[in-house]
Amino acid sequence: MSNLDLRPAPTDCGREASGGPVKDLLTGRQVPLGESTMVRRLLPSLGRRMVGAWCFVDHYGPDDIAGEPGMRVPPHPHAGLQTVSWLHQGEVLHRDSLGSLQAIRPYELGLMTSGRAISHSEESPRPHARFLHGAQLWVALPGAHRHTAPSFEHHPELPVVTAPGLRATVILGTLDTATSPGTTHTPLVGADLALADGTDLRLPLVPGFEYAVLAMTGRIDVDGVPVEPGSLLYLGCGRRELPLLARSEASALLLGGAPFEERIVMWWNFIGRSTEDIARARADWMTGDRFGEVHGYDGARLAAPELPDAPLKARGRER
Ligand code: MN
Repeated sequence: MSNLDLRPAPTDCGREASGGPVKDLLTGRQVPLGESTMVRRLLPSLGRRMVGAWCFVDHYGPDDIAGEPGMRVPPHPHAGLQTVSWLHQGEVLHRDSLGSLQAIRPYELGLMTSGRAISHSEESPRPHARFLHGAQLWVALPGAHRHTAPSFEHHPELPVVTAPGLRATVILGTLDTATSPGTTHTPLVGADLALADGTDLRLPLVPGFEYAVLAMTGRIDVDGVPVEPGSLLYLGCGRRELPLLARSEASALLLGGAPFEERIVMWWNFIGRSTEDIARARADWMTGDRFGEVHGYDGARLAAPELPDAPLKARGRER
């Protein structure tokens, strides 16, 4: 990790904020997802847990899954968060305990709000496209909304912001003047930036938001830092604009939001505020009916891991 800028004193960037703009390059770690997919986990990482309410970022692919099952994530529960499925290549079949059955295709938003409880499965359809490339993101729900009823939204059409050499698809929240139809509960943005080779521009930002950029394809410099596909550059707060330079045709995800001030406990697929929240969610998944049932997945549902012996610690945006 590097911190190339001096950090000014904290301003409007949140109680625990590290002040102004920074450039921390996170390269992620390899983690298995489900039965057959390896992902690069960018958040949470050792020094950085959240970007706005974005609290979990996995990047996967492009993987050649010809002749292979592809993604196979058996039914599992969620509480206290939203999941965002975002694809550049391939297709993911989503099933959930509300009865949703939805194919999610490239540049379509699959947004699942767990509220107090939901369960779902994700799999590559059969047959499926040769390549799979995408990101799986979580958004933490604030205290006022973490017990709401679960819901699933599929938005195949999303607003687009264009500038010379740039086509930005607004996944969630607001970018410039365009707002995604996806439901949000904190001020944030998620946008897919497609850049033509040679594009050199300054993207307008909200100074009170913190931001990160996840490179997806091609060669891109973010505020002068080359970011390889599958890496994430954390940018901090206090920026009015972000210099982007595409050294080839390139794409990246812009993630940002108001600093999330609540301390959260994140364990397995749950976000709570205490060890008791998490222990109850785990017990309800293993023995209760709180999380409902996913129908149609060809396989057994996931068992929760054992809780650690030590109490879980509520943490803020940084460790
Ligand atoms: Mn999930």
